Amino acid sequence: MKNFRYFFLIGFIIFSILYVRFLKGENKIDKDQKLNYIGVRYEVEKGNTFIGILRRSHIEENVIDSIILYFSKHYEPEKIDIGDEIFIFTDEKFNFKRLEYKKDLKRTYVVEYLTKFLSYVKDDQQSLSVVLIEGVVEDNLVNSLKSKGENEALALKFSNIFDWRIDLTSEVKKHDRYTILIEKKYINGKFYQYGDIIYASYENDKNLFEAFLYNDGKQISYFDQNGISMEGNMLKAPLETYSRISSYFTSKRYHPILKKYLPHYAVDYVAPRKTPIFAASDGYIIYLGYNYIGGNTIRIDHENGYSTEYCHLHSYKKGLKIGKFVKKGEIIGYVGKSGYATGYHLHFAVKKNGKFINPLKIKNEKETKIDENKREEFYRYVDNIRTLVLAIKSYKSFPIHFSKSDFLFKYANTIVKSPNI
Ligand SMILES: [Zn+2]
Repeated sequence: MKNFRYFFLIGFIIFSILYVRFLKGENKIDKDQKLNYIGVRYEVEKGNTFIGILRRSHIEENVIDSIILYFSKHYEPEKIDIGDEIFIFTDEKFNFKRLEYKKDLKRTYVVEYLTKFLSYVKDDQQSLSVVLIEGVVEDNLVNSLKSKGENEALALKFSNIFDWRIDLTSEVKKHDRYTILIEKKYINGKFYQYGDIIYASYENDKNLFEAFLYNDGKQISYFDQNGISMEGNMLKAPLETYSRISSYFTSKRYHPILKKYLPHYAVDYVAPRKTPIFAASDGYIIYLGYNYIGGNTIRIDHENGYSTEYCHLHSYKKGLKIGKFVKKGEIIGYVGKSGYATGYHLHFAVKKNGKFINPLKIKNEKETKIDENKREEFYRYVDNIRTLVLAIKSYKSFPIHFSKSDFLFKYANTIVKSPNI
């Protein structure tokens, strides 16, 4: 019975390998032909217009009209955004051949001239894999993960989950063990971003910490094996993703723009432009506006004397205004570099009773457990995820990369019930 269940799981995973999601992609110019073109990259800056950028590339005015006409079929030229990229390809006589407007990592708008004008939208081929990573710590978590080809962002994502239980920067010891079941996103076969960590465990000589990403009917968040929420009252890193912390909470920091030592009562998270920023906790917007140091800034007032501040935003979430109530995890804006900032990052500050405190050192004030009537279902999910992790670990020759199977979230509870098993 048990073996059969493993067999089913492995079968399901192998089936999943064959399932890679292709978003429709087209490439109308072959690569050899493109090699003869001269390509120029423009990054849209403040005050730039689409037509202005075209004029800078020595294209004839009547050709520019056609490019705009064809481009407008898919995208409004007025809506190009600061920081977006435009590639213009011409031949050596500056005859227009191709324009690519990269809206984001996934979408490119193309205007092309071969024998006639045409335009289309190219969606890059995306795929999502679920990967099992396990290891033993030698000196620290970052190095251990790096030795497995992973990067710092994963170490941060992983340690954030356990933030309220164990400090994985200072409390890590040699021979500690960890397991991570995580989604990895690829564009055109190249890794570009981590998705959700579905399961994580950390084991030292005293404890085994486990975290399960689970939808308890209210929200999707992490719970330990006993169904106790691992979330704090406040999100430690209030943004969807980030690559690293560039400045910590300190009373003395060298400021790269002001060129002097100043206190930095906040944490700076480096993140890609337009990364969604979340409200760190439930509360009311008390400030929303621009100042020349913080740039676009939001402040939120929370319970128990806490307030939070978010600076250098690219833009605010539409409809947000002073006095509005926001929920923990709700998007309030997007990462930018407005005000005094050298690169894209979020400056995140927390005050308790009007005094700045270190956001990374906040203590949790309450513990929440999954509703009693939902616990049985949760424990079944815990069993199934553990079984899956064991199955992957015990199947030695199995490749560690396999595609995401929705069953992890949606069907984990039905596996044991399935008449096929
Ligand atoms: Zn800062």
